[in-house]
Amino acid sequence: MLEIKDRYDPKKVFIHREKIESLMHSGIPTPVCFEIDPADGFCNQSCVDCSYASNRWNPLRLIDRKLLLKTLPDLVSCKVKSVEWVGGSEPLLHPDISLFIKVAKECGLRCGIVTNGSMLPKIYKNILARDMDYVRISLDAATPEVYFATHGSRQFAKVIAQLQEIINQGADPSLFGASFRIMGANICDIFSASKMMSEIGAAYIQYKYSLTDDNTEYLKGSDDLINREIEKAKQLNSATFSVLGGDTLKDITDVGIANYAGCISSSLVGVITAAGDIPFCIRFRNVPSMYIGNIRDGLTNVWGGARHQAILSTVSSKRCGYICKHHKYNRIILRHCKGNHCQEVMIKKGVVVNPEFI
Ligand code: SF4
Repeated sequence: MLEIKDRYDPKKVFIHREKIESLMHSGIPTPVCFEIDPADGFCNQSCVDCSYASNRWNPLRLIDRKLLLKTLPDLVSCKVKSVEWVGGSEPLLHPDISLFIKVAKECGLRCGIVTNGSMLPKIYKNILARDMDYVRISLDAATPEVYFATHGSRQFAKVIAQLQEIINQGADPSLFGASFRIMGANICDIFSASKMMSEIGAAYIQYKYSLTDDNTEYLKGSDDLINREIEKAKQLNSATFSVLGGDTLKDITDVGIANYAGCISSSLVGVITAAGDIPFCIRFRNVPSMYIGNIRDGLTNVWGGARHQAILSTVSSKRCGYICKHHKYNRIILRHCKGNHCQEVMIKKGVVVNPEFI
């Protein structure tokens, strides 16, 4: 029996037994969750480690409104359970984001959003309280100076003030959390970011490593210091606030050196880019040769089709680098599923937040 510890525990995949069983049978189940990029290219901030290479100097690309509205019901017919509005670039840059979230909810999809928080009031008045399952703010700092070093932006005070105001005005604080990607420049802010989020009344902060070619070796040399800071932050854990993550860099790099071929879990999370392309998996948004199709061809025609099968047969997660969350899913599925049988999970009451998102 496996126990799920927190909202980012990879064992959450086993909540979706029917997907895992279909994965064992056919190789490509429909996803549990879709990540949708309403915008990409231009961003109102310029994070130094943006995985999608968005920044202030690129042209803005917006997802086609009609096409997306036509696609959202297809997600439901594919038994997808949730949508994470993410990037690309800042998802709130799309002028129709409130409409997209509203329609997705009306279709029966759960909705979370990952945002830099600078435009939060844009959706808060229309939809936030009623329609969002979570709002995760990419914070990465606890001071304006470190925020500038990580986000290339002077909006730190604005982001924090807006979040505080929204919570003070009565929004459910359990909806709000922050992520903190550990880079070289922000190690000094690890503890204070937790303190700040807990004082604001947010529900959690999640630490993860930003492992670019430039900083991985530097972070390896700082791993002990990073772990000490995260352990210190964990002392702020309470009934209403959680410090999450904090795998050591060794844990991550050991997992990243995958000793298995293929990537069986890749299809559990789907992606639609701002151009409507459907990449093979979450990490290949910017790699056209890894696109399985485009939503204008119809999601149901593309998903699990010949091109999807062909790409799946060539993928080797050994080449995928350290940071993909699917390494954990792959390992855990391989460890606990044999043939058509998967181990049961024990779901501790009150611990599994947002089971529809993995
Ligand atoms: S391990 Fe590789 S193939 Fe699998 S989801 Fe991650 S990047 Fe994609």
